[in-house]
Amino acid sequence: MMREKTMRVLLVGSGGREHALAATLARSPHLTALFIAPGNPGTADLGINVPIGVENVPALITFAKEQQIDLVVPGPEAPLVAGLADACAKADLACAGPTQAAARLEGSKSFTKEICYAAGIPTAQGERFTTVADALTYVRERGAPIVVKADGLAAGKGVVVAQTIAEAEDAVQEMMTQGSMGDAGRSVVIEDCLVGEEVSLFAFCSGETATLIGAAQDHKRIGDNDTGPNTGGMGAVSPPRGFDRVAQEQALDIMVRPMLTEMARRGTPFRGVIFAGLMLTETGPQLIEYNVRFGDPEAQALLLRLTSDLLPALKALADGQLDATPITFSDQASISIVMAAKGYPAKPETGAVISGIADANALDGVTVFQAGTTENAARDLVVSGGRVLSVCAVGKTVKEARDRAYAGVKAISWDGAQWRTDIGARAL
Ligand code: AMP
Repeated sequence: MMREKTMRVLLVGSGGREHALAATLARSPHLTALFIAPGNPGTADLGINVPIGVENVPALITFAKEQQIDLVVPGPEAPLVAGLADACAKADLACAGPTQAAARLEGSKSFTKEICYAAGIPTAQGERFTTVADALTYVRERGAPIVVKADGLAAGKGVVVAQTIAEAEDAVQEMMTQGSMGDAGRSVVIEDCLVGEEVSLFAFCSGETATLIGAAQDHKRIGDNDTGPNTGGMGAVSPPRGFDRVAQEQALDIMVRPMLTEMARRGTPFRGVIFAGLMLTETGPQLIEYNVRFGDPEAQALLLRLTSDLLPALKALADGQLDATPITFSDQASISIVMAAKGYPAKPETGAVISGIADANALDGVTVFQAGTTENAARDLVVSGGRVLSVCAVGKTVKEARDRAYAGVKAISWDGAQWRTDIGARAL
């Protein structure tokens, strides 16, 4: 069966998450060729980078056919929302990610609400609005605090947690009248404000089967103590405090498996990595959102704990045979700390020469994954994007993993590098 087979893989993406996926896949004895589209200098050490953009689905399919690819592994959501998995199915290519119809779990907030209500998954009370008048009436009736969300994909920027009615009214006007989120905000979801600790739960899903990957807590703001603007994520720690393996398995039963059953019932089964954003409230976990792929930088931390072979697991997931494949993770704690460019997130400055990655990698338990990096004409590794790299580590405890990763951060430098000093502090 599949386990005996050798495989040629096309990985799609260019961030730290994809560098971590590439490093994990490269350990597989079943791997014979690894291509990364478009990849980064870190993935170039593990396979062959191919200059195709992540949303260029036709070019990805053509390349995969030419290269006789056995498995396509999508990293980010954009190619999935653009229909990569559907195009793979048409071209008879295996893809470890959801179809466009199933990717609506990330692409549409109102669709997620509909699925939650249909499947009995606990989530904040909310409604979808297509007119400003109805949205404003609801806000005034319901009161503050209240949460206003652009219905469509808004790169993590489409949510306003309003503390007052006036703030919520402004958010409605900005999204619906002024079009601040483009088409994504033409309709909005308005829901009650949840209070508690936020955690992310990850699982491999294949139709109605789900296998736990683990849980992490991410750090979205640029500054220590959750200050300053939102970013793509400045670090992640696993496990979060008070959310152990037993709680994670319970959450999988409540938050993920009923969703899988409902999606299958609708004829749009979900195959891929599910990322459930949860609020641990006083009355138990509530679903905030689903994402249809690994988080970045959560993937980097979680994949370091994988003790089984990722490649057959992803192939089984793509083939709908996940329950036949063992997936195991160590009980270690892990962490990822993002180092970002000067000026990130508003205006990242590029071009600074990076040093010390090899020194960091030589430290006990430490692995560096690259993201916004490139080589200049002199073949120096330089900054090319906002989130430049993530320094990741495993340890027996969160404290050990954290101390190791921060020692790695200390070894790396470039002009203007910035990072948070409190990643994982709440999980101690
Ligand atoms: P989302 O894009 O839906 O994940 O929302 C982005 C962030 O907004 C979440 O990570 C939460 O911190 C916050 N958020 C979203 N929905 C709620 C809610 N109902 N109550 C409180 N905070 C929320």
